[in-house]
Amino acid sequence: MKNEDKNLEKRRKGHAIVVDRDIRCPVCENLFGHQGTPQFCPLCAWDLENDPSLTLTIGEIPEVVWKAYQDRLLLARNIWNERQRLETEKQGLENEIERQRSSFLETKKVQKEKDEALKEKDREIQSVRK
Ligand SMILES: [Zn+2]
Repeated sequence: MKNEDKNLEKRRKGHAIVVDRDIRCPVCENLFGHQGTPQFCPLCAWDLENDPSLTLTIGEIPEVVWKAYQDRLLLARNIWNERQRLETEKQGLENEIERQRSSFLETKKVQKEKDEALKEKDREIQSVRK
């Protein structure tokens, strides 16, 4: 077998491994099972179809293309992480709002019970005076 053929064979085998294994989105690490990889990641919208780390390419990927890819990937990961951080922050704030709302409702309920008890006392006093 010629050297080129050997390399191609390696790539083919490498690709076969990638296809057989569960693929993860390189940006958000969303896992794609055996149902296959969609064109775009449904979570972060990364273009999976044109991702050179996931697709079979004939011949070596040029250094400049790979560098540009890695820059784009890093940027997309940073954006994704920031989005996750904001999502967590938002969730935390929503939980805090819910906690305060429950606490307010509980206070209101207790206050209403106290008011009822006071009214009852008033009625008792009124009936004694009569
Ligand atoms: Zn993704």
